[in-house]
Amino acid sequence: MTSFNDFGLHADINRALAAKDYTVPTPIQTQAIPPLMKGRDLCGIAQTGTGKTAGFALPSIHHLITHPHHTNPRSCRMLVLAPTRELAAQIAQSCRDYGRFTKLRVSTVFGGVPINKQIRDLAQGVEILVATPGRLLDLIDQRALRLDDVEIFVLDEADQMMDMGFIHSLRRIAKLLPSRRQNLFFSATMPKEIAHLAEQFLEDPVTVSVTPQATTVEKIRQFSTYVEQKEKQALLHSVIASEDIDRALIFTRTKHGADRVVRHLAGAGIKAMAIHGNKSQSQRTHALQAFRSGEIKLLVATDIAARGIDVSGVSHVINFEIPNVPEQYVHRIGRTARAGAEGKAISFIAPDERPYMRDIERVTRSKSEAMPLPENFNELVRNLPKPAQPPRDTGSKGRNPQRQRDEAFAGRGEGNRGNQPRGDRGPRREGAGADGQPQRKRRFRPRGGKVGAHKGAVKRVG
Ligand code: AMP
Repeated sequence: MTSFNDFGLHADINRALAAKDYTVPTPIQTQAIPPLMKGRDLCGIAQTGTGKTAGFALPSIHHLITHPHHTNPRSCRMLVLAPTRELAAQIAQSCRDYGRFTKLRVSTVFGGVPINKQIRDLAQGVEILVATPGRLLDLIDQRALRLDDVEIFVLDEADQMMDMGFIHSLRRIAKLLPSRRQNLFFSATMPKEIAHLAEQFLEDPVTVSVTPQATTVEKIRQFSTYVEQKEKQALLHSVIASEDIDRALIFTRTKHGADRVVRHLAGAGIKAMAIHGNKSQSQRTHALQAFRSGEIKLLVATDIAARGIDVSGVSHVINFEIPNVPEQYVHRIGRTARAGAEGKAISFIAPDERPYMRDIERVTRSKSEAMPLPENFNELVRNLPKPAQPPRDTGSKGRNPQRQRDEAFAGRGEGNRGNQPRGDRGPRREGAGADGQPQRKRRFRPRGGKVGAHKGAVKRVG
């Protein structure tokens, strides 16, 4: 069995791994680290939860330590792009952990928080920058950052980037990168258009894959119950009462739906919080911390807000509503069954959601077990407690000063961000629709040109 010592990583990195109690590399790490240490480009098909962050961060940190040179002001040597603020923050924290015995500086930039601190952080230059695309471009436009010195470029969760409409930002960013660089491209799924995007970023890449395309994680037991939409809340209360839940993530399709579920749970005296794009950054951080620390066992989330969240010990994923994109289902249920633990996914299927479930079962080549409605279900429906009044922290627009500040800093309402995708522009980032529906997949169609540098211009370092 491979051990971390076999990779030839710098001693400071091995020390950090020992401090984190990592002994055995995960499959993606075993596959990705050796070619990355040789400076190869890499195309990784892997979800969050597989250990892919260390897979790309460890060899990159090794490169930065073993090729030391001065970092110019307002520049970085390694750039990691992630679709959401949560994922960006998580990646940055991992880089700090893995680089804790080195002098490498790690910064994060994303929308929804004041830009001035980020400008100050970048003034002296940093070795590792983790960013969401919109805010990165804001900083570049303000001359707070340049990308000429990037040696390692990582594009994480590429499929999510495309879903969120970041393609134009990616094109712009790619043009600003130097042609000599190492490229790493990660995506949980690799449909044709993502593979095409990957081709444009990568040169002679090594491809590594740790889950077959759109196949559900084997350790997850999947169940589904047919239920009327308006009776789902009663079913949720029954599932919460009958299941042995350590931590459960409950997915709704819309932000308002997520708030409604939390209010109904509160009405029944059940503590839960919601995380979605209408929440301010501080509310989202607070909810995640409460979920991580065990203060709350139930977190209600929309797909984009939950993407990339890494919380161990999620025993259940409950699909309160069924996603209309099968890959989204794979991502959702992938939140459970981490680190070899068994997880359980339970889907509530309303009559109009049956076609979505059929699509999911076709794509994942799996069938969930039927979970019947509880015997006293009609009684539960009749006696469903009234929802609580909206709690003060629902983040409703216009009433929350913090939220208004966030929006102002995110550039909303200033009429100057018309060409920037919603992705990291601030709280309304989950879709343009007033109903909060996540965006349908946007298909990427190249218009005759490469993304970024012209053919042959993308070269590896070293
Ligand atoms: P990631 O897919 O990068 O988000 O990682 C998922 C989780 O696995 C994180 O909590 C990591 O800290 C953890 N992890 C990554 N690699 C290892 C490893 N080799 N041994 C134990 N835990 C790991």
